[in-house]
Amino acid sequence: MDAAFEKSFGTEHQTAADTVPRYTGLTAATTGFDVDGVIADTMRLFVDIARETFQINHLSYADITSYNLEECLDLAPATIDAIIQQIIDGTHAPRLHAMSGCCQTMARFGADGHPVRFVTARPEAGVIRTWLESTLPLDAGQIEVVATGSFESKTAVLQSKGIHVFVEDRLETCFLLSQAGITPIVFAQPWNRYPHPFREVSSWDELAMLMGE
Ligand SMILES: [Mg+2]
Repeated sequence: MDAAFEKSFGTEHQTAADTVPRYTGLTAATTGFDVDGVIADTMRLFVDIARETFQINHLSYADITSYNLEECLDLAPATIDAIIQQIIDGTHAPRLHAMSGCCQTMARFGADGHPVRFVTARPEAGVIRTWLESTLPLDAGQIEVVATGSFESKTAVLQSKGIHVFVEDRLETCFLLSQAGITPIVFAQPWNRYPHPFREVSSWDELAMLMGE
């Protein structure tokens, strides 16, 4: 089945009609998920913290056109750092929400009771694990979280866990994974609108079509 994934993911010029059946069968046993920007609407939280806590009202989600926030936002680096620190520490006043449609699809994905694996480049897992447990319709014992502390470390963690497909929003990480033989699925976001050769989904509904029978 894994070889079939690799093959179908590499096929070009598929129509929507023949893409959907080829991708069915994505399961928790072989698939892992990034958290920020895929499961958690973290950049929305960034904009909300900027507005509610720092009185910065001009930012919009679409302004975040790069993973390097200093590059794309006209904010003082110290302000960006302060907002990111609140997100990492979980001390922010506005709530962190799940991406639209994520919970419904996760419920289906975890229905067989298999652990669902999340691999984040955050420096530590505690805060985001608590959030995942309180937000996703999965048993706490079914949620596996690894915080690698760096994007580069994701590959080895995924390989050690037998994860062959990974849903990720940072394009540079997708290239690293692909070079190591892991199939990335790009979760489309304003900060990854660059050419790439990978399968891409624009929503959790679209991702849901890659799961199931
Ligand atoms: Mg991410």
